[in-house]
Formats: sequence, C-alpha cells, structure tokens
Amino acid sequence: MKNIFLFLFVFLFLVIPQNKVKILSVSNSISCKTKQLKFYDNKDSIFLKYIPSDTTKIKYINVNMHFMLKDNNTGNFTENSDGYNDTTYNAYRYAKDLIDNSNYNLANNVKMNLPRPNNTPVLKTKYRYRLKEVLFHKNSKYYYYENTNGSQLIKNFGKDRAKVINIFIQATNAENQKSGGDASMAGYRWVRIKRAWEDYAIGKTGWWVAPILNHEIGHCLGLVHTMRKLNGPCCDSINGYCDDGCSDTPTWEHIVVNLKQASPCCWNDTICSNNMMDYSASQRAITPCQLGKIHYYLSKISDN
Ligand SMILES: [Zn+2]
Repeated sequence: MKNIFLFLFVFLFLVIPQNKVKILSVSNSISCKTKQLKFYDNKDSIFLKYIPSDTTKIKYINVNMHFMLKDNNTGNFTENSDGYNDTTYNAYRYAKDLIDNSNYNLANNVKMNLPRPNNTPVLKTKYRYRLKEVLFHKNSKYYYYENTNGSQLIKNFGKDRAKVINIFIQATNAENQKSGGDASMAGYRWVRIKRAWEDYAIGKTGWWVAPILNHEIGHCLGLVHTMRKLNGPCCDSINGYCDDGCSDTPTWEHIVVNLKQASPCCWNDTICSNNMMDYSASQRAITPCQLGKIHYYLSKISDN
C-alpha cells in the first residue's frame, strides 16, 4: 500500500525562504468530503524521525489557484472585480488574501485541546504555500461544485500538475450549503473549495477559508480526519471507529470510553477537538506526529 502510494507521488517542492506574513485570523467551520485513504499501517514510528525541529528549513509548496466562472465571466471573483461590481478588489487579491491567511495559520500553530489534560508539544510548522499562478475558466459546465468533481477539473484545467497543488474555487448551487471542500490524496494533487465567493459577500474573506484550505491541503499531504467521518459525524460506536495513526491525536473512543469525558465532536468549546483535520470553530492545532507525516511524505516527493 505504502509503495503504491509513494509511486503515485509526482510533486516537486522547492525550499526557499519567504518573509513572514502577519494577518489577524480567526477560525471557521467546514464540511469536507474528501475520500480518505488509510496511510496508517505503521502507526507513529515511521513518522517520528521526520518531525521538524527549530532548525528544519521551511518547505514551500507551489499552488495554482483557479477561479471557475460561468460562460459569461460572472459568478466568481474575476480578473477585474470581486464579481459584485467592486473593481477595487479582484481574484488576484482574493488569492493572495487566502494564501497569506493560510500561511499565517500554519505559522501560528496552537495547543491541542485533547486529550484533557495533555503535554503535546506545540511545534513550529515548517511548510508554507507559495502562489504560482491565478487562472480563470469561463465554462458553465464546470462552474458549480456539486455538478463536477476534482478529477474532471484537474484533467481539464490543471496546470503543472506534477509540480504544484491546483486549487479550484467554485460556487455552490445548493442553498445553505456549508463552506468546505475536498481534495485528492493520491496522484495529481488538487483541492476544491466551495462557497468562497458567496462567503466573501457576507464579509468572510480569506481568513474564513484559510482553515478549510489548510485542512484540504493536509489531505494532499497524507493527513486524514482524527475523529470525524467524511461529512461530519463522529467516528464513534455508531458511525464506526477510526484512527488517523497518530497517538497524539486522540480518537473519540479514547476520549469518551477510556477517559470518560464528553464527546469532542462539538463546535466551539475547550472540550471540542481543535485539530486542523477536524471541524470546529478553532481547527488550528497540528500535532508533532501530523507534522512528521507531512514531512515524511514531502521527503518522498522531494526524492523523486
Ligand atoms: Zn477533510
């Protein structure tokens, strides 16, 4: 399984210095339907030696951002406006805003809420994104998130697919659809983000989508949810047990059955999971094991 997975990796990543970005950011909620693969055959041990230290150089991951538009160049941020007649803001600004906020969150890792109490270290993260290109596609067929899938988008619109993560910004055709996205965990890496343009209209700019993007790119880099199924329910006795393979990301079973504490699948409380790979009002924490996994896969990519 692992060998097949590694064989599928085709990225090239560059390591260069970049200035820190300082932007106020808060967290958000998401609905993620990524088809998760299981990469935890070896539990923590294989990842431990890849956990970054203070002296680890930051790895920069190149990303392209695609704005999916209707045939008539409406329905999303455009080259010249925010899509709502404001020409002082456009897709380029949104793309930078989103990447800056995502990198800010990565640069400001937070302590895990769970298990309570814990001494899990809060390590400095050593990976960031670098925006390479902003692209526009006027094609109503591929406009709505719900009417398409990532495989179609990466096949038809992916650019430098072997070198970068292609991010597709799509509108949703469903009312009250949650913010969110999905991503690929094998082959060419892509991420889809839904509702970014609609959320912008109600004041939720890049800071809102940044935790979603970090979560989805987490999938691209080998991470899976720590305690939730695809679209939100807890991995519990009813929905099935799940384990991301990291002992510093406790399972629902450990919290509820072993420690006899309240369910951590909640939204905004110190008893809720605040891990980047769950859904909560503060999905910002990345554990040492998760960082080890990311750098393990990044090392395999870089070696190819
Ligand atoms: Zn997810």
